[in-house]
Amino acid sequence: MRTIDIPLGDRSYPVRIGEGLLADPAAWAPHVGQAPILIVTNETVAPLYLPAVLGALKGHDVDTFTMADGEAEKNWDNWRALIGRLADRHAPRDTTLVALGGGVVGDLCGFAAATWMRGIRFIQAPTTLLAQVDASVGGKTAINIPQGKNLVGAFHQPAAVIADTATLRTLPPREYRAGLAEVLKYGAICDAGFIDWIEANIDALRAMEPDALAEIVERSVRYKAEVVGADEREQGVRAILNFGHTFGHALETHTGYQRYLHGEAVAIGMVVAATLSESRGLLAPGLARRLADIQSALGLPVTVPADIDAPDLLQHMKLDKKNLAGRRRLVLLSAPGKAIVDEDSADADILAALNACRA
Ligand code: NAD
Ligand code: MG
Repeated sequence: MRTIDIPLGDRSYPVRIGEGLLADPAAWAPHVGQAPILIVTNETVAPLYLPAVLGALKGHDVDTFTMADGEAEKNWDNWRALIGRLADRHAPRDTTLVALGGGVVGDLCGFAAATWMRGIRFIQAPTTLLAQVDASVGGKTAINIPQGKNLVGAFHQPAAVIADTATLRTLPPREYRAGLAEVLKYGAICDAGFIDWIEANIDALRAMEPDALAEIVERSVRYKAEVVGADEREQGVRAILNFGHTFGHALETHTGYQRYLHGEAVAIGMVVAATLSESRGLLAPGLARRLADIQSALGLPVTVPADIDAPDLLQHMKLDKKNLAGRRRLVLLSAPGKAIVDEDSADADILAALNACRA
């Protein structure tokens, strides 16, 4: 088992990473006392992993709340139902919530933990690659409302993260690959050496070798912890985690969230952002090509499709909630592993970069 400490003063917590952790009572013991536990999961994950977790928590007072599957379930109704369950059971203030599932379960469970009695303990047990390398670490919790995604939420750090890398083997392959895009993102913005490592381990990643999985989860969590530790509430440097995301969100919005998984859209977005960095003269030529080659080898998309017009994407970018005071902010690169926040890219630069990324 590998352990990474997220240093956030009195909100610090460990992330434990390893094969088979969900079934291991020793992985849970330091984080659960004698107080009641409520496991929040969904209909897909429950049959796969709930028995193992219940086995590891034998002897504890455990209840389970199972949601339907899907992003649409990260909503008021499930938040209300979960809070209702806590209220009906008179859940005391020392109750521990456990989020067993992907980012949807983690965000909703985390938001319920943040709001019940103004905040109770919760443990993240992420079962998707995206949740292990991104959503479970950093303390952002949220639900979606009809007006937009993640518009209602809170910062609330977990008491621990238990990331069982064996769970990744049951993921739909597309979900796994989409998570790899966020992994590569950390190399692009934080560490050129990690880009090299990924490039050298493409076969091991495609084969989901246990050591390779543990390595990417550990390194990604370390990079995210560094960034979040410097800026817990996203007032500055945390913005670099959005590398590839402005273009990615434009693609997701334009296609009604139907065509791309988030990580797939981010993959294309990273190639566009690197291309723009190069054409603006901020980054030496070569990295955009290299990122695209790595992503293709991992089975990720890398081009802006022919049926989507660049001006339409630009229009979506103007509405991005990361923009401040009407200024468009983009995360670009000044070197492999080094991100910068840019406010000076003109529409024409962006349109040219989008069109340069056609097949
Ligand atoms: P998800 O939770 O929808 O999981 C993807 C699919 O995989 C679902 O169908 C799920 O049931 C299934 N699944 C989960 N674990 C499985 C397993 N081990 N085997 C088989 N199937 C499994 O999606 P996600 O990509 O994990 O998370 C996306 C969500 O995370 C979005 O709502 C996004 O807003 C949020 N998010 C939050 C943060 C944050 O900082 N809080 C960061 C990134 C993303
Ligand atoms: Mg993302």
